[in-house]
Amino acid sequence: MKTEKKAVLVLDKISKSYGEGLVAVNQVSLSIRENEFFALLGPSGCGKSTLLRMLAGFETPTSGQIYLDGRDISPIPANKRPLNLMFQSYALFPNMTVAGNIAYGLEMERLPKDEIAQRVDAMLETAQLGDFAKRRPDQLSGGQRQRVALARALIKRPRVLLLDEPLGALDKKLREKMQLELKRLQHESGITFIVVTHDQEEALVMADRMAVLKDGQVSQCGSPNDLYERPDNRFVADFIGVSNLIEGRRVGGNQIEAGGQRLSIDSVLDAPPGDIALTLRPERLKVLGGEIGHCDNVVEGLVVEVAYHGLDTNLHVRTALSAKPLIVRVPSSEREFTTFTNGMPIRLGWNAQHARVLSC
Ligand code: ADP
Ligand code: MG
Repeated sequence: MKTEKKAVLVLDKISKSYGEGLVAVNQVSLSIRENEFFALLGPSGCGKSTLLRMLAGFETPTSGQIYLDGRDISPIPANKRPLNLMFQSYALFPNMTVAGNIAYGLEMERLPKDEIAQRVDAMLETAQLGDFAKRRPDQLSGGQRQRVALARALIKRPRVLLLDEPLGALDKKLREKMQLELKRLQHESGITFIVVTHDQEEALVMADRMAVLKDGQVSQCGSPNDLYERPDNRFVADFIGVSNLIEGRRVGGNQIEAGGQRLSIDSVLDAPPGDIALTLRPERLKVLGGEIGHCDNVVEGLVVEVAYHGLDTNLHVRTALSAKPLIVRVPSSEREFTTFTNGMPIRLGWNAQHARVLSC
């Protein structure tokens, strides 16, 4: 059994209002664990940066408490907190070398020269910057500059490193590479990372756990797999990955009715009949041949769009179950996209356990 790691940072009902009516962060409670890579995910304007700035001490919460290792940190000014915030713009010193930039924080602490040299060397190696130690920031690529900024933050060994959209300035290919790099650096340094991103894929790849924010509130918190496979509500189901929404009525037990059809779900509902919403991931829908196989639920439909993505094909299939066509993901290794055409009748199936009942 995995033992629960101890909490490093506890946010207790943190709120931040900017004047009348604008609540940027609304009663956020989170517990972030030792050595964890934690992502704060949400659309632009949902309060991610405000939350991070409160942790760093650049904003004061309107209400609520923040505890670091069990101590309320509200009286501690930003520059004394063992939490280091890495800004979106890396703000490297342009006239200093890479090694100089990395050493700067330790020099400010007036550490002995040999200790600084030793730690800078080790950090240059960890961040794979050894060959660039003597270069200036303008002689580096975007990814290398990013690594220097990270090295500069990590060398101070903060208890928690806060990163606000750290990969925002990089192009897609480099971002994907740096996501793995960030994860490696977090793992090797053993420092707790809290990373803000609006990119759900990035959060899924990097995070041990993540919180999805909406309008300043935590919509759901859990592991990437929890949130992807078991979204609690429509917002999370829609924000993370692609999902199909089916709205219907409970008819008791594990049966619901949608589009004039009975569907089975995995959980037995003891609530009285009423409206219900289900979500179903595109890869859980199977295109059925002549035989129905082992699917609990089967629906007839018409292909209205075939979108080829190389690795797979997304079929948009109109059925009686929802106003929007259902999206079905067919791996190219299973069936070539050329076997599908618009207007083609098709039969889809899925197992009850793969449809998730949403709370709201
Ligand atoms: P995110 O980082 O998720 O995009 P922010 O935390 O930057 O969101 O902003 C959350 C909300 O708070 C937004 O509506 C934003 O306009 C508002 N906001 C942020 N900072 C300030 C400020 N200093 N004064 C007034 N409103 C602010
Ligand atoms: Mg922001």
